[in-house]
Amino acid sequence: MRRPLMAGNWKMNNNLASARKLAADLVQALGGVEQVEVLLCPTFVHLQAVMEQIKNSGIALGAQNCYCEAGGAYTGEVSAAMLADIGCKYVIIGHSERRHVIGEDDGLINRKVLSALAEGLRPILCVGETLQEREDGVTEKVVTRHITGGLAGVSPEDGRRVTIAYEPVWAIGTGMTATPGQANDVHALIRGLLSEGFGPEVAAEMRIQYGGSVKPDNVKGLMDQPEIDGALVGGASLKAESFEKIVKYYE
Ligand code: PEP
Repeated sequence: MRRPLMAGNWKMNNNLASARKLAADLVQALGGVEQVEVLLCPTFVHLQAVMEQIKNSGIALGAQNCYCEAGGAYTGEVSAAMLADIGCKYVIIGHSERRHVIGEDDGLINRKVLSALAEGLRPILCVGETLQEREDGVTEKVVTRHITGGLAGVSPEDGRRVTIAYEPVWAIGTGMTATPGQANDVHALIRGLLSEGFGPEVAAEMRIQYGGSVKPDNVKGLMDQPEIDGALVGGASLKAESFEKIVKYYE
C-alpha cells in the first residue's frame, strides 16, 4: 500500500516572515497527520526557517532544485549534500519551470537525480508534456523520454527512493487540470516504464504524484484514481487553508 505524498511547492514566493507563518499555520493544521505524508518545499533561503517551524511535527522538508555536483567551483548552485546536511528529505528535480524557463535537459536532470540519491535524498522527478505535445499526440513519447532519461543509471534499490510527479505543463498554474482519467492513464504508462526499468515489485512501491492546478475541489477525484499516489501542489499550497483541505482530501 503506497502512502500518498502531498507536497507544497512554494516556488519563488514568500518572504522570511510569511514563510515562517505559513509553516507554523500548517504545523497547527497538519502536524501529526498519518494518512498521508506532508512535504513543504520553500525556496533555498527559507529552508532553515521552515525547518525550525516543522521539526518534530511529522511534516517533511524538501528543496525545489539542487546541483549535480557535491561541491566546488559552481557559483550560485546548491548541492544535494548541502540540502541533506540541513535536514531536507526530498528534492524536486526537473520541474517544468526548470526545463522550460531555465533550459534544463534530461541529461542534467539525470545527473541531479543521481547526485540526490548518492547523498541520501529522495528525488521527486517531474515529467510531463506541453500543450503542443499533447495536441500532437506525443504525450507517451515525451513522458517516456523524461522517465528513461531522468532515471538512467538508477539501481532498483535506489529506485525505491524516487517519487515521480506527472505534471502536464498545460495544467501548471493555468487552472486547467487533467481529468482524473487522463491523469490515471499517464500514471499507468509511467508505472509500466518503472516496472520495465526496476521490476514490478519496486514499481509497485514507488509513488507517482499528479501536479497541475490541484485544488480543494478537484483533489478527491484525482486521488480516487488507482495510480495516483499524491499531489504536487503549487498555487494552492501558498494558503494554509487550501493546502490543509487538499492534504485532508480523505475526510
Ligand atoms: C507545481 O508547481 O508543480 C504546480 C503543479 O503548480 P500549480 O498547482 O499552481 O499548477
